[in-house]
Amino acid sequence: MNHFELREGELACEGVPLSRIAEAVGTPVYVYSSATLERHFTVLRDALVGAGLKDPLIAFAVKANSNLAVLRTLANLGAGADVVSEGEVRRALAAGVPPERIVFSGVGKTEAEIAFAVETGVAEINVESEPELHLVNRVAQQMGRRATVAIRVNPDVAAGGHAKIATGKADNKFGVSFSEAERLYANASNMAGVRPAGVACHIGSQITDLAPMEAAFTKMRGLVERLKAEGLSVERLDLGGGLGVPYFNQPTPPDPEAYAAMIGRVTKGLDVQLAFEPGRMIAANAGVLIARVNHVHERPEGRNFLVLDAAMNDLLRPAMYDAYHDIRPLKPRYGAVTYDVVGPVCETGDTFTRDRVLPPLEAGDLIAFMSAGAYGATMASEYNSRLLVPEVLVKGDQFAVVRPRPTYEDMLAREAAAPWL
Ligand SMILES: *Cc1c(COP(=O)(O)O)cnc(C)c1O
Repeated sequence: MNHFELREGELACEGVPLSRIAEAVGTPVYVYSSATLERHFTVLRDALVGAGLKDPLIAFAVKANSNLAVLRTLANLGAGADVVSEGEVRRALAAGVPPERIVFSGVGKTEAEIAFAVETGVAEINVESEPELHLVNRVAQQMGRRATVAIRVNPDVAAGGHAKIATGKADNKFGVSFSEAERLYANASNMAGVRPAGVACHIGSQITDLAPMEAAFTKMRGLVERLKAEGLSVERLDLGGGLGVPYFNQPTPPDPEAYAAMIGRVTKGLDVQLAFEPGRMIAANAGVLIARVNHVHERPEGRNFLVLDAAMNDLLRPAMYDAYHDIRPLKPRYGAVTYDVVGPVCETGDTFTRDRVLPPLEAGDLIAFMSAGAYGATMASEYNSRLLVPEVLVKGDQFAVVRPRPTYEDMLAREAAAPWL
């Protein structure tokens, strides 16, 4: 469920007509709904607690939506943060996420990032390889500290809607095998600079089928049991994120209750804290990208191009993953026209969709890309020297610009001529 609905013939976010935001802030612009973010987090937490999990750590995957106001909205509900860079650790801290709820994932953490995470005292550093374990050990020892780590396992399970977002197969770069994990965990427990506290996995994104998750989590349970049988202490099992969301016209994901019930069943009696790293399921349907129609270009051979002021640099998912985003006019007219919806960037890939049937649109009309709250603004760039798209957060009948559109002066001021120029 989300809070983007037609009100008196106009698409609104909670109590605010989206056209009002477009007029005030300009387009393109991302708009997020506080109520939807809060609802998605609460539904997941209630489902997990309802399935018998005690005090689960729900660490929102910051890369899905890293806006400080979004992070703070979730942190206020008790969310943690799953981060993959020092920048994301800093964002989580700035948004009020306590260090003990921060999980640091990622395959290529640098020495400086590890030192920062150790200094911060994050809940766990998810170690993805043997060299990384040694690096964390060395860095923490140099600091006279002991870093809490979890070993990230690659459960060798195929899941995820698109090859570019599947992470749990043995040929992906993420994590170690089960046998390696056992060996590394035992080694880690003898190292002076680390304290192994758990094991972690994350098998992919936009997963709409519980079966691969259940297969992976069952294997993870087996690992925890083997480690404990060896006399090693395991406090936490991190099951990652990846739960799909209902993108319009796409396979329906399992509801949070079914997901939670499966986890309750698989982990019953295990006596560990469970951690989760949901990104998309919290944020995707809590945000839209609003764009204006620059013009409608009717080709003689019959193609209608809807040329928007938003482009692939603002919303990369269609170009990168062939992602489908529902497109809704903010003030729909009656009728149906087939459009190719494109942006102004000089790339054929700057095509949001082809042959999409929409209500008739005219130059100047406003449309919304639905389900754009995750992997939308975070993947935006200034390609073609287009200004970074601004972000707005709505709460009830209020809205606030939570990242303003930069000016061209801002953009140019970041660069400098070389001394010889
Ligand atoms: C991307 C990522 C997530 C979040 O994935 P979603 O599909 O958005 O839930 C969680 N954990 C890790 C390690 C990730 O890389």
